[in-house]
Amino acid sequence: MTFSRRDFVKTSLLGAVAAGVGTQAQGEESEQGAAPERDAQSGPHKRPIIVCANNGYAHLENAFAFLKGGGDTLDAALKVVKGPEDDPDDDSVGLGGLPNEEGVVELDACCMHGPTRRAGSVGGVRNIKNVSLVSKAVMEHTGHVMLVGEGAERFAVALGFPRENLLTEHSRKIWLLWKEFHSTKDWWGPGLADPHWQPPATGPASKDKPQSELWRQRIEDLQARAADLGIEPEHRLAAVHKVLFPQTGTIHCSALNDKDEISGCTTTSGLAFKLPGRCGDSPIIGAGCYTDQDVGSAGATGSGEENIKVAGAHTIVENMRHGMSPQEAGLDALKRIVRNYNGDMNKLRFMDMTYYILRKDGAYAGVSLWEGYSKGNPHKIAVHDGNLRAEVAVSLMKGYSQEYPPFPDIPEDLKKGSVYLK
Ligand code: ASP
Repeated sequence: MTFSRRDFVKTSLLGAVAAGVGTQAQGEESEQGAAPERDAQSGPHKRPIIVCANNGYAHLENAFAFLKGGGDTLDAALKVVKGPEDDPDDDSVGLGGLPNEEGVVELDACCMHGPTRRAGSVGGVRNIKNVSLVSKAVMEHTGHVMLVGEGAERFAVALGFPRENLLTEHSRKIWLLWKEFHSTKDWWGPGLADPHWQPPATGPASKDKPQSELWRQRIEDLQARAADLGIEPEHRLAAVHKVLFPQTGTIHCSALNDKDEISGCTTTSGLAFKLPGRCGDSPIIGAGCYTDQDVGSAGATGSGEENIKVAGAHTIVENMRHGMSPQEAGLDALKRIVRNYNGDMNKLRFMDMTYYILRKDGAYAGVSLWEGYSKGNPHKIAVHDGNLRAEVAVSLMKGYSQEYPPFPDIPEDLKKGSVYLK
């Protein structure tokens, strides 16, 4: 996999969206061949069906069997998202999620149950791994819709969820590396008395020291620190990347059964190194997830702050209610994000968004602001309707989103022997 997202801006950036035009055709090639006519207005569409973010792929088979066997739609969706929540190696959700700036993992989740038209949500929850299930418990065991912070944690414990340390060694070391990276202005990291101390690789670029050289030095310093912190050689560059560009990651899942019942849920550890207490879009009913039994279900992963401002999932479901296809409905929500920045590509290229959309008749779509994070690494949705597959999302704009702040190409020799995780 490639490291930099820089190779993106070749392109049609300026033209494509200013005009508000979707640039990719439907029926894009999927991993297992051509995608079906997934967004056609008329059916028949297959049911039952589950649509989710691609990090749920490995958990779809079980959930689909459960749904096909008569299981509830929300329980099926929760089975999918619980997989990454339990997985210590998925550092974007649940156990092992990257922590906030104080080194504490804080999780967000929400769910909507179509058949009973109920919703539950939790935000900024510490010490409880399966926050998606806690959001369901809020829905079933309280008269509220949303609980946050310490109250949500105490509620979860009262309901029997175990308190556990969610910070894995892997995530703790990346967080520490992030702390030390910022230590030019504080007391974290080795001090002046350290025999290996070196002045930080910052300062203005010059003819003698071009920007690329400064970056190389910065990356090499960070890699050396990663080694000191005990991060394995093959994971060092990925850790450095996460420090320089705090990543996001989330999973959404929507499920529809053959009785036309539909539900959805979303769960995340949110933006890495966020301010304590920050809630993204994922626990916001109407932004990170929205399900209406009469219409369909939608959910989101990506730049949470942007999605909140367009109430993405709700916008999409309402668009479908008014006759748009899933794909049109999703692209319209993305255009609202573009509109919020007046089409300014210098800002839009630093954000991204993927929507997962399932209409009540089984039509579905995955749409994204950009094609992916880097060439050969497109945004995908995972689908199971009897046939498990990953499909490339239809992007509004051609090209790749870029990390913020802008980053130069990583020299090839620095990439050697690294497992790049993006
Ligand atoms: N939307 C999530 C958040 O902002 C992160 C993500 O999906 O990548 O918390």
